[in-house]
Amino acid sequence: MYSEKVMDHFTNPRNVGEIKDADAVGQVGNPKCGDIMKMYFKIENDTVKDVKFKTFGCGSAIASSSMATELIMGKTIDEALALSNKAVAEALDGLPAAKMHCSVLAEEAIKSAIYDYAQRNNKEYEGLKGYKPPTGDEDHHDLVEE
Ligand SMILES: [Zn+2]
Repeated sequence: MYSEKVMDHFTNPRNVGEIKDADAVGQVGNPKCGDIMKMYFKIENDTVKDVKFKTFGCGSAIASSSMATELIMGKTIDEALALSNKAVAEALDGLPAAKMHCSVLAEEAIKSAIYDYAQRNNKEYEGLKGYKPPTGDEDHHDLVEE
C-alpha cells in the first residue's frame, strides 16, 4: 500500500524539529484526519536556508512533510511556493488516494509559512497571489482530485 520511500521518510523523517529564531512559521491542520503540521523557516536573500517541521498525524503526513522540506531546502521562495502536493506525492513514489490530503497539507504549510514571512517583511510573492491563510475549518479532503 505504501511505497518504500514513504516508509523510509516515515520511519526516518528528515529535518524534524523546531527553529528557535525562525524567520517564518506556518501551521496548518486537517480537522477530519487530525493531522497538524508546523513548519519553521530560516530565510536569507529570499532563499530557504533551513527548514524544519513538526507533524502530529498519520504516517503519510509525516512522510510528506519530510519530503517537502527536502525538496525546498536551498531553493528560492518562488521555487518553494511552486511546490505542489502532486510533486511531493510523486517524489514519494505515490501515496494512496485516501492519503493525498496529507501531501496537500505539506504544500499548505509551506505557503502558510511564507505568507507569515511576507507579512513580517512587507513582501509580495507571485506564488501567494490570492492566498488566504487557513482559518482552521477547511476541509482538506475537498482539495483532493480523485
Ligand atoms: Zn493524514
